[in-house]
Amino acid sequence: MSEKWRTHDIDEAYEIREVTPLGFMQHVEKSTVLRPYKKHIDLVRKIFQLCISGRSLGQITEYVNQQNVTYRAKYKKETEVKWSMAEVKKILQNEVYVSETYRVISKREFAIAQKMLTINTRVTDGKIEISPLIGIARCAECGSLMVERSTSSRGRKYCYYMCGTNKRKGGCTPHKVSVNELDDSVFKWLKNHVFAEEVQTADGLTRKLAIQYVDCVYVDEYGMMERIIIA
Ligand SMILES: [Zn+2]
Repeated sequence: MSEKWRTHDIDEAYEIREVTPLGFMQHVEKSTVLRPYKKHIDLVRKIFQLCISGRSLGQITEYVNQQNVTYRAKYKKETEVKWSMAEVKKILQNEVYVSETYRVISKREFAIAQKMLTINTRVTDGKIEISPLIGIARCAECGSLMVERSTSSRGRKYCYYMCGTNKRKGGCTPHKVSVNELDDSVFKWLKNHVFAEEVQTADGLTRKLAIQYVDCVYVDEYGMMERIIIA
């Protein structure tokens, strides 16, 4: 490792090695002892946040490449300065970020991120977030995660959730339900069962509330909420 990547300017006892997870420094002698490295740990949090908000791996990687963060794997190949999607994916799958000692993000957020990696999402058209129940709503028949689709008719946009299996392979059945309708059902349920202030004072279901309180919601063949498991 080239000397310039050592973080001696931050702390004599810690350094960033090729095997150090992004966001940490390793103790020079006791390699199991990690210490957060602020600039990088903020980036890790942002990576998870982008994933949860529905950005595709490609979009997240693009963001990371704009941050000018040079990191261990880049030491070797001077010419290879860009992050790859595979590297970003590894970060999103690294359990060190939810370990007891280094709770960089919550277990809920980590779990949602793992689900998000299995479905293709991409937030475009100036949308800030995907619909609240993506990565949470499942088809009650086949168990797959629901995906989000939209259609436009006479200038009006209609957004709906549908069974991921049906969308991908044409198996199962659509289990189609409008985003507003399912979100409303879940929100009403939460209002009646969860007495946290942020639920009681909310005007509707947000992505944040869904992630915080709902582990899974199953949608039946008529597009109705069949059952809900809270987090
Ligand atoms: Zn299904």
